[in-house]
Amino acid sequence: MSQPPASNSPVLVTGASGYIATWIVKYLLEAGHTVHATVRDPSKARSVAHLLKAVEGTPGTLKLFKADLLDEGSFDEAMQGCELVMHTASPFVLDGFKDAHEALVRPAVEGTRNVLNAVNRTPSVRRVVLTSSVASILGDNRDMERVPAGIFTESDWNTTSSVHHNPYQFSKVAAEREAWKLCEAQSRWDLVTINPSMVMGPALTSSSQSASIGTLIQMGDGTLRTGVPRLVMGVVDVREVARAHLLAGFTPEATGRHILSTCELSMLEIGRILREHYGKAYPFPRMEAPKALVWLFGPLLGPVTRKFISRNIGYPLRFDHSRSIALGVQYRPIEQTLVEHFQQLIDDGLLKRKKKRA
Ligand code: NAP
Repeated sequence: MSQPPASNSPVLVTGASGYIATWIVKYLLEAGHTVHATVRDPSKARSVAHLLKAVEGTPGTLKLFKADLLDEGSFDEAMQGCELVMHTASPFVLDGFKDAHEALVRPAVEGTRNVLNAVNRTPSVRRVVLTSSVASILGDNRDMERVPAGIFTESDWNTTSSVHHNPYQFSKVAAEREAWKLCEAQSRWDLVTINPSMVMGPALTSSSQSASIGTLIQMGDGTLRTGVPRLVMGVVDVREVARAHLLAGFTPEATGRHILSTCELSMLEIGRILREHYGKAYPFPRMEAPKALVWLFGPLLGPVTRKFISRNIGYPLRFDHSRSIALGVQYRPIEQTLVEHFQQLIDDGLLKRKKKRA
């Protein structure tokens, strides 16, 4: 893309009611853009109320459109006149489904193909920003053993996930590969991907099913009181991820993939940061459970497999986020992200304080 998109051309955001997308929409509206926001059901007040609120007091304009990833052609109307398409919609669920292909892989891959085929039919589009994930960089923490410098960069790809092992990760890498394939088959539009690690920070919506929110609830509801697995993950603020989408969309020279990750933290470190702020008011984890115990009991307690435990628990993890800094992303301290998110869960009544013993 040689010029930034014209400021008066609308920007399409798919999956606009999601946790990350709502922040993207808010920033676009604040910058005065017209946003074409696709949701699965615009008549469902719960999915759109926060979008209608986000437009209040901004110079931007919001237009809602109905579109489903599995409904070929359903993005065409919303895309008319757009130079920039931000494709965020994809199921982000880690449990509660029977058929991983139908729940995750098909909507992610077929959905990406449907959105990009619509891009191919829409002559105004010049850039697509895709919300991918570090799940498309690696499958298991153990994969870092084969990375020469011992740190994941944008040149790494997840080659270890499948529909049977880490299906969410598989859905993301398969969708991103499909997007690059379709991009390379033409020359009118270019593709920039944002690859966030675990996204946290306050939500503008209470209706999202994003797995991000569930992870933090478990930190404070006592589920992990007796010990957390020694699991390290990258963590990043939702506002940085949203800003990165705008930088990727409006910086003509932006190209390729961008890891978005503030830092790496173990689950115990997340508990420690929250305890430093909230003291004993919540049953934050205080110790790590031995791997053998997690291997034995983990699969009985939640949707985690022994293969996942073997390949992730106890392994270090590191990301190189220098491409995101070069793009212009400024990372806030992760303590702020975690505390503001946790506080929101408290304010929304999703977490109760520990009862004092009589
Ligand atoms: P989210 O709140 O659950 O958002 C997912 C969005 O995808 C929702 O708006 C949902 O629409 C939409 N969607 C799902 N299936 C659809 C379908 N069949 N047709 C149309 N739309 C569909 O989760 P999120 O965390 O914001 O995730 C947004 C994107 O970021 C996803 O691509 C996810 O893989 C990626 N990501 C997330 C994280 C993270 O930690 N949160 C990290 C890396 C990457 P409805 O509102 O209609 O359900």
